[in-house]
Amino acid sequence: MNELKSDFYDNYLNRELAQQQDKWPPYKDMVLKDVTLPLPKEFDNQKFKNLCLTLNDILLEELVSHCSDLENIKKFKHKDKIAALLSELSSMAQDSKSKHAIQERINFVLKDFSPDSYPISELNAPFVFLCGFISTFFGKDTNGRPSAIFLEEMPKQKENVAKLLTDTGPIQRYLSQLHSSLKLFPFPDFQPKKVFFLSGEANTHPKHIAYFMPEDEGIKKSKNKCSYYLSNVHNETLRNISFILHDYVFSNYLNSESILSSDIPLYGVLSHELGHCIFTDKTNYKVFNSYDRWMSVTLQEICADVFGVIIASELWVELNKPDVVGYYLAECLRYSHRGVGYFPDSDGMLFQLSWLFDSGVLVIDTSGSGSRLIYETDMVISALRSLARVLTDSFLCQNLELTVEIYNKYSPLYNKETLLILENLKKIAPISLNFT
Ligand SMILES: [Zn+2]
Repeated sequence: MNELKSDFYDNYLNRELAQQQDKWPPYKDMVLKDVTLPLPKEFDNQKFKNLCLTLNDILLEELVSHCSDLENIKKFKHKDKIAALLSELSSMAQDSKSKHAIQERINFVLKDFSPDSYPISELNAPFVFLCGFISTFFGKDTNGRPSAIFLEEMPKQKENVAKLLTDTGPIQRYLSQLHSSLKLFPFPDFQPKKVFFLSGEANTHPKHIAYFMPEDEGIKKSKNKCSYYLSNVHNETLRNISFILHDYVFSNYLNSESILSSDIPLYGVLSHELGHCIFTDKTNYKVFNSYDRWMSVTLQEICADVFGVIIASELWVELNKPDVVGYYLAECLRYSHRGVGYFPDSDGMLFQLSWLFDSGVLVIDTSGSGSRLIYETDMVISALRSLARVLTDSFLCQNLELTVEIYNKYSPLYNKETLLILENLKKIAPISLNFT
């Protein structure tokens, strides 16, 4: 691999590099925080741990050979070994649904991930053993890379999500009041999960907090789409990265423990996914994709974030509003801390911070040393409501000229006001989680 030259600020250079590197982002001084993933009782034994260690070794070998393989062929070199390991692991599952789902996964591996053999029964299984070529961050490798992610269902949280989404009337009404053209379209299944084993690409940095299946396995057209939300990975990420950055940049008090013990992280991601399904009749990304795909993806993420946080904070009254806004700003910092031009969703979050800066919502706290910022919850929400309307009139109504103008004004490529935030963030070495 060539010597990596990258710069936290260099959007153009990083965007170019993002297409090429197999280790991404190219941080040299990343701080890794060890976090232990507890095993479900069915699998809490030495045999399971040993099998996982072997699977991990094989997947790392698969990952290395995949990254050096110019043709990027999507099949395991050691598929028989992997299938045999999964089969041994499946014998430890106590319930028939999980056993069946793992058998279907084995079949999928053996058939080189042919879409016809996609393991559909995983959607209703208590335990899901994902193993295959799973999507990486946009900009890196669209084919996915060798990974394994073992998941356990979270029945109570699943029920809460189902209850919240039984009637989407209030969301629909809220959106019409915000802008007469906005509509919530049907959205895919959303399942909260606990991760208990991660390997291959999925175990590199930074870590994902959700996967969208089967699209993230390269199957674009499916009737059974589902977001797997990785609840414990997200909570640890918030605790070890986002909240630390929040306290470094903002002087507002953030009640971390109350956020982590609430449904805010779960509903925060759920509302982001809902935000991806809010459109107008004119919405079509084709024109933006051909103008600048990176810009288009960034704006889609911005829309999902903005609609998500206003719905969660204004509509879901059981959530404490200052906590929702604190959580949201902490997440904006976590993504921005990854640098500029590395990931569209990071650029998108920096865009939102620029907007809040420009709206006079993030201000320097003169009561302290003057190096931290301060905000008021309601002002953040009303600035984001304005941004939602602006995005609707421009991006969601297919007005290319207006969209480019807004994107340029607030994107990290041009906006100088966010430099204060970036300067502060740059002093903290990149942080990631190391699951043990
Ligand atoms: Zn998204």
